[in-house]
Amino acid sequence: MWEAQRASGERRAVDGNGGNGGNGGYGAAGGPPEHQGGIGADVSRHHSTACRGQSLPRTGRRPQLALGTAALLAAVSCARLHTEPPSPPLAIERLADGVYAVPGDTGRGSEGRPNAGFVVTTDGVVVIDALASPRDGARLLRAVAGVTAQPVRWLVLTHHHPDHHFGAVALVRAGARVVAHPDRATLAAESGDSALAAAWTAVVGERAMRGFAFADTPAVPVARDTTLRVGGREIVLLQPGAAHTPGDLVVWLPAERVLFAGDLLIEDGATMMVDGSSRDLVAALARMDALGARAAVPGHGRIAGEDGRRASPAALIALTRCYVEGMRRTMRRAVAEGTSMNRVLAQMPPADAGRPTSRRSRDRRNAVRVYLEAEREMMQVAGDSASPSASPSTAPTDASKGAAAEEPCAP
Ligand SMILES: [Zn+2]
Repeated sequence: MWEAQRASGERRAVDGNGGNGGNGGYGAAGGPPEHQGGIGADVSRHHSTACRGQSLPRTGRRPQLALGTAALLAAVSCARLHTEPPSPPLAIERLADGVYAVPGDTGRGSEGRPNAGFVVTTDGVVVIDALASPRDGARLLRAVAGVTAQPVRWLVLTHHHPDHHFGAVALVRAGARVVAHPDRATLAAESGDSALAAAWTAVVGERAMRGFAFADTPAVPVARDTTLRVGGREIVLLQPGAAHTPGDLVVWLPAERVLFAGDLLIEDGATMMVDGSSRDLVAALARMDALGARAAVPGHGRIAGEDGRRASPAALIALTRCYVEGMRRTMRRAVAEGTSMNRVLAQMPPADAGRPTSRRSRDRRNAVRVYLEAEREMMQVAGDSASPSASPSTAPTDASKGAAAEEPCAP
């Protein structure tokens, strides 16, 4: 998940990658991915700009001192960039035989470096998510190479937010083919790819973005539940609706009982819903819960497991459900009481300036989204009580309570 706030207000924050690259689904009966598609043309849109325009002036024997000094410093700085040692390899965590997580930051919620993972098969490696920059994508490749000599053949993207796929170009250049939902639309689509790349460069830095090109258009589009069979492994891709984004995929390894949930799960339970919907998320949580995962890798933060040292997958899912359903109850109650969205927001802690995915900022932005959903759902109920899609999926609300009366969810 990433949100780059370009304008004030809860709803202007942007996220993800522009445009809808959809071209239909890759059906469950479509056979193994080896026979599908090819690498998209996006990869050719290479536009590295590192150190551009920082060469020494070439005209005049004695350039102005100030200009010459500035240019010299710039050139020295640029030379340092080019001689900088490579970043250290990423740590990995073995979750099952041949199944690894590449843990990101913990304790930072959605603001931390995301998690990734990979599955070693007898026919190459399947990587799950590509991290946030070409530099991190290269680090991810090195992490894989530290475990196996198998080539990276496939890259599964859980969704199209830049912190999860801006490293994809590094894996594609190494030979991986992208498996992803074809719907790349998120709020960032309002600004377009170039603006998104520029905004993200401001977040991670130009060095990290060196060599960047968009590479999240799938060679193998997956728009519904699909089972991939690669090198003796069964990898189930679940399409949970628009829970976190319209282009979500959840990766489930049934033999190993390992779940890669993407940003449907975040370590603190506060999944961002501004690109998705709380209703689909509630359904997706029930579905993930029913899998009985032994380990669950959230999009960000601590990995859930059943080893007693950390939260279990069921506990992380329950924490998330508590958050989402509590938000839904609160907003439905506010709508039912005629409490305006502004008044609801006024009862909540302020957002953190410049931190659009901090917990408080997420809470407020989710509140706006879920309030609007509640309005829509309740209008449908009022207008068409026979519509099965209009039946509320949350517990009855107590309209006598205030909008901020929900108990906090305990981890
Ligand atoms: Zn995300």
